[in-house]
Amino acid sequence: MTADNTNSSRVFLFMKGKSDGNKKMKQLLGGKGANLCEMGRCGVNIPPGLTITTDVCQEFYKVGCNLPPGLMDEVRDALSEVENNMGKKFGDKSNPLLVSVRSGAAISMPGMMDTVLNVGLNDKIVVGLSELVNERFAFDCYRRLLQMFGDVVLGIDHELFEHEITSIKKRTGVKFDVELTSKDLKELVNAYKEVYAKNGKEFPQDPWEQLRMGIDAVFRSWNIPRAVKYRELNKITSLKGTAVNVQAMVYGNYNDNSGTGVLFTRNPANGENELFGEFLINAQGEDVVAGIRTPMPISLMKNSMPLIYEELYNTVKMLETHMKDMQDTEFTIQDGRLFMLQTRNGKRTGNAALRIAIDLVNEGLVTKDEAILMVEPRHLDQLLHPMFENEKAYQKDVLAKGLAASPGAAVGRLVFDADTAESWKARGENVILCRQETSPEDVGGMHAAEGILTSRGGMTSHAAVVARGWGRPCVCGCEQLLVDVKEKTLKIGDVILREGDWVSINGTTGEVISGQKPVKKPSLTGDLGTFMEWVDARRKLKVLTNADTPEDALVAISNGAEGIGLCRTEHMFFSTPQRIAAVRRMIAAVELESPAVKEALDELREYQRQDFEGIFRVMKGKSVTIRLLDPPLHEFLPHEGIALQKLCNQIATELKVSADDVQKRLLGLNESNPMMGLRGCRLGIVHPEITVMQTKAILQAALNVEKEGIHVHPHIMIPLVGIEDELLNQEQLVRSAANEILENSETKVEYQVGTMIEVPRGALRAGDLAKTAEFFSFGTNDLTQLSMGISRDDAQAKFLTYYQKHGILVSDPFDTLDTLGVGELVRIAVERGRKTRPDLDIGVCGEHGGDPASIAFFNSIGLNYVSCSPLRVPIARLAAAQAAIQN
Ligand code: PEP
Ligand code: MG
Repeated sequence: MTADNTNSSRVFLFMKGKSDGNKKMKQLLGGKGANLCEMGRCGVNIPPGLTITTDVCQEFYKVGCNLPPGLMDEVRDALSEVENNMGKKFGDKSNPLLVSVRSGAAISMPGMMDTVLNVGLNDKIVVGLSELVNERFAFDCYRRLLQMFGDVVLGIDHELFEHEITSIKKRTGVKFDVELTSKDLKELVNAYKEVYAKNGKEFPQDPWEQLRMGIDAVFRSWNIPRAVKYRELNKITSLKGTAVNVQAMVYGNYNDNSGTGVLFTRNPANGENELFGEFLINAQGEDVVAGIRTPMPISLMKNSMPLIYEELYNTVKMLETHMKDMQDTEFTIQDGRLFMLQTRNGKRTGNAALRIAIDLVNEGLVTKDEAILMVEPRHLDQLLHPMFENEKAYQKDVLAKGLAASPGAAVGRLVFDADTAESWKARGENVILCRQETSPEDVGGMHAAEGILTSRGGMTSHAAVVARGWGRPCVCGCEQLLVDVKEKTLKIGDVILREGDWVSINGTTGEVISGQKPVKKPSLTGDLGTFMEWVDARRKLKVLTNADTPEDALVAISNGAEGIGLCRTEHMFFSTPQRIAAVRRMIAAVELESPAVKEALDELREYQRQDFEGIFRVMKGKSVTIRLLDPPLHEFLPHEGIALQKLCNQIATELKVSADDVQKRLLGLNESNPMMGLRGCRLGIVHPEITVMQTKAILQAALNVEKEGIHVHPHIMIPLVGIEDELLNQEQLVRSAANEILENSETKVEYQVGTMIEVPRGALRAGDLAKTAEFFSFGTNDLTQLSMGISRDDAQAKFLTYYQKHGILVSDPFDTLDTLGVGELVRIAVERGRKTRPDLDIGVCGEHGGDPASIAFFNSIGLNYVSCSPLRVPIARLAAAQAAIQN
C-alpha cells in the first residue's frame, strides 16, 4: 500500500518527491524498483509508477503461478496516485495513461526476462490517443503493444509478427519501421489481429485485464529457460524472484524535441571522469538497442539540446554523488522534458574499477573501506594477466570452449608432448602444449609452454593446478577436442590442427582460437600500488603463496606474498631430465632394495639442497613451508608400454639387475585408488629413507643460508595425516634427521614440524594431532575429495557440471569450499586443534586459498593465513580485506 507503507506491503509507489521504498531495498524491490524509489526521493524527474515486490513473485510460484488474491486491488490503488501525478487516466478514452510492465531482480539480468510496453491501449483508446497526439504515434504504440503482448503474454511466435511488418515494408517500399505512415500502421494493427486469430488467441480489450496478464507474464518470465540459464552461468542463487515495475510510459519518439539515451557517469572502460554515453533524437529505447539508427555521442547533445544537456549532466552527477559510485543510467526526453528511467552502479573493466575507486576516495565521495569493496576480485584478475587486445575481433575464429582453468592469454604453436614443448621452446618458439590430460611427467613441457590445453580434467586437475601455480594460461576439460597424441593432431568438429599450427587460448574465458591473436601485457600502474596499500592495512589474514621454485617465489613476493605456505617438493624433481632419471632410479632402487638406493638418494638430496637454498635466499627470512613428498610413486613413471619398457631396460643396466624384475616391481606400484593409496605420510612411513633425505636437504640448505647471514625459518609439513601415530612416526624421523645436521653446528636454525589436514579423520582428531604438530595447513583439495567422496581429477566432466546445471550443487566444491560440509570439518579441526594448542598457527594451502568466497569463510573462522598461487596473491589480499571489512 502507498500511504502507511510497511514491510509487509506488496506494492510500493515511486514518483518525484514521494516514494515508498529506497535504494537499500533491492532484495524486496529489485535493483530497478529500489533505485527508482531512491531517485524519486532525491527529487529526480522519473515517470511515476509502482513496484510489486519479489515476495509476491515467491508467492506467485507457491500457489501454482497465480497472482495472489487482492493484489490487483492494491495495484489499482497505487495506480490512481500515478494517474493523479500524470494528470491522465488508465483506460480513459480521451486522456489515456499508458504503462510499461517490466521485470527487475535484485541482481541485474540484462534482457533475460520479459517486458510489455504501451499497456492500456485498445481499439477505442487508440482513437482517443490519435486525437490527443497524432494518429501515426497512436497506431505505432498500438502495434507495438499487440506485438509484445502477443509474443510475451500469449506466447505467439514473434516471427509471425515480424513477417507481417516486413511484408508491409516491402509492399510500401520503405526500409525502416519509422518510415511507415499512419495508414500503414493501421493496416499492420489489422494484420497483427489476424495473427492473433490464426493462433486462436484474442487481444484483451480491457486495459485492466491487459495489466493483470502483463504482470502475470513478467512473473512467469523469472523461470523461462534463458533466465534460468543466466542465473546458472552467473552463479546467481541468492534471489527470491523478480519484482514487477508498472511505470507510466514516456515517449522519446514524441517529436524532434524528444529523444532517448544511455549515459555512464564515468568511462566504464578506463575509469576517466567524463560522461560516457549516446543518444538518439526522436526515438524509443528499443530503436537504440535494435541498432535501427546509429546513436550519437552524448557530447553532441551539448549543441543540439544545451538546456537538457545541462539538466541531464547535473542529474547524473547528483546521482553519482548520492549513490557513491559510477552510475549507468537511461533517460528519455519527451517534448523537451527530461525523465530518468533507470540508474544503477555501472559495470566496468578492471582498469576502470581501480581508477574509479581511487578517484572517488580522492574526491571525498567514499571511504577507503568503501573503495576496497568496490573493486571485485575478478577486476584484479583482469589487471594481472596478459590479455588479448580485442576479444570481440577474434570471435569468428573461436574453435571450442573449455573450462577457464587459469586466466590470461597465450599464443603459440601447437605441440602434443612435453619433450617437443621443451625442445621447441629451447630454440625460441612459443608453444601451446595440448594433451588429453597432463601428468607430472609433462611438467617440464608445461613449464616451457605459453599455455596448456587439455580435453579432459576439471578445475583442480593436474593441468589446472600446475598452470595456476605458474600463472600459465590454461583451458582444460575441453571435451569438444579430439586429441591424437600419436598422430599429433587436434580435431574440433571438421577442423583439424597439426603440430606447429598457431593457436591462441584464453584462460579467462576458456576459448580456444585458431591463429595468432595479439596480446597485451598487464599494466601494473601506480594506482594498483596505492590501492593494495589500503587493502593490506585492512586485512587480518596473512597471504602466503604456493611456490616450488625461486622464480615463482619472486613473482609471489612482487605480488605481496608474506611467505611460502606450500612448497610441493615433488615439483622440484621435474625441472630437468637428469632429476627425473634420478627419481626413477631412486624409486626402482627402493623397490628392489638395491644398494644403489643410497647413491640415488644422495643425488636427489643434493638437488633438493640446492633448490631449497635458492628459495631461502629469495625469501629473505620469510617463512617457508615445505611439504614432504606426497604423490604416489607410480605417478613419476611413464604410463605407456614402450616408454616404461625403455626405462626398465635402462634402470636394469644401471642397477645391474634383470629388466623383467624391474618391470615387475614398477608395475606393482600401480594401485586401484592411487589417490587413497601409498602417498603422503604413508610413503614416508613405508620408505623412511625418503623423509630422512628430504629433511636433511632442508636443514642443510637452511644452515648454509643462515651462514650467509640470511635468516631462515623452515616449516616442515607432513602430508595426508589421518592417524596420530602417522604424525608421531614422521615427526620423530624428521627431528632425528634434523639433529644429525644441526647437532655439530654452531649456527642455529629454528624449524617447525606441522601437518596438513587433508583426511577427514585428521580433521576430527585434530586435538590429538595438535599435541605434535606446531602448525596446521588445510589441504582442502584432498579434504574435499575425501570428505565428499568426489574425485578431484575427473568428476567435473562426469557429473559436477551436471550437478551445477541442475542445482544439486551451487558451485564446484573444488573451486569454492563447501562451507556446510567440508567447512564444518575445517571448523571442528580449528576448534579441537586450538583447544590442545591455543597458539596453533593455522592456514589453508588448497586451491580454495585463492578463492574469494572461501577466503571470506576462512576469515570468519579465525584462520591465520591462506596460501595460493603467486598470481592469485593480490586477489587473496583483496578478498581478505573485503572479508575483514564485511565481517
Ligand atoms: C591439497 O590437497 O589441498 C593440497 C594442497 O595438496 P595437493 O593439491 O598437492 O594434493
Ligand atoms: Mg593434497
